[in-house]
Amino acid sequence: MVLVVVEHESGQVDELSLQALAFARGYAAGEQLAAVAFGAGAPELAAALGEHGVSTLHAVEHDALDAYAPQAWGRAVAQLAERVAPAATVAAGSDRGHEVLAHAAACSGGVLAANCVRATRGDPAALTRLRWGGSLLEEARLHGAVKLLTVAPHAVAIEPAPVGEAAVEPFAPELRDEDLVVRVAERVDTSGGGLSLADAPVVVSGGRGVGSAEGFAALEELAGLLGGVVGCSRAVTSAGWRPHADQVGQTGTKISPELYIPCGISGATQHMAGCKGAKKVLAINADPDAPILAGADYAVIGDLGEVVPAITAELRRVRGG
Ligand code: FAD
Repeated sequence: MVLVVVEHESGQVDELSLQALAFARGYAAGEQLAAVAFGAGAPELAAALGEHGVSTLHAVEHDALDAYAPQAWGRAVAQLAERVAPAATVAAGSDRGHEVLAHAAACSGGVLAANCVRATRGDPAALTRLRWGGSLLEEARLHGAVKLLTVAPHAVAIEPAPVGEAAVEPFAPELRDEDLVVRVAERVDTSGGGLSLADAPVVVSGGRGVGSAEGFAALEELAGLLGGVVGCSRAVTSAGWRPHADQVGQTGTKISPELYIPCGISGATQHMAGCKGAKKVLAINADPDAPILAGADYAVIGDLGEVVPAITAELRRVRGG
């Protein structure tokens, strides 16, 4: 049997979790799939999970666990795995999937391999996984009695495999106070109801070259004229000029706009990992040797403090306002 940690929102199973279920079925090689889910709506997922090959759904019951709490969720997964002894515990390669399985591995003394795209069961298990922001594939062997795997996002197709409604089994973990030190206390919607960075057709991003938080006003203006949103590099979030929600890259948001305009961004591999889905790239950079230019369709070499307002002024002129 293979155990899959399933994420859900308002009764809907998360898409990356459905991909993880398809991956887990391959790893199970004909054996049963079990799922574990947290939160108030968990038992209601039984029918949907049965459509994807899950025969048993372990619904975690604990007053403190409706809200996300990484170490507590990890401990619960580790305790459940100890009880049901799966061939492997699998989760989506989402922020939560990685975090929960890392805690579960630490709690159980297991071994975790992240971002797998293929896996063949055995001891050791044979794995292929994505490394370096998706720029290389690694062939690996995973040893150890307790194996945990996360599945690289969008590497495995969702495939229904109906086995009838999953049987729901409540599971009550035993938690320690320290497991709940980090937990979601409140949710704040930062989208403002507008376009999200992940879906915007145009993204104008600023890097260290912008020079300050105030310097982003010119990028906001250009993005607004183009019907887009503003993104940034990690140098910018590290400096506190923009929130992490605006960061494009390996540890930020993956974007795929029609047009990407990186301004004063050098083009580190970790940044490029987030924007390689862009259809066209217009780079604005003072350095003619900046790596970002290698992946750009168009480039303006110059001071962004002059180039960005000049583009904005020209757009206003041709639009007659
Ligand atoms: P710099 O590399 O300092 O580049 C600044 C650029 O601005 C230069 O090319 C310069 O020529 C140009 N410039 C300066 N002044 C001007 C001007 N007046 N006009 C025009 N151009 C100008 N980075 C990310 O962005 N996203 C990630 O998700 C991410 N994840 C990471 C994960 C890990 C594990 C690690 C180790 C790093 C990660 N990084 C990430 C950081 C990444 O390696 C780079 O350090 C970062 O992207 C650099 O940001 P930058 O391009 O803004 O700054």
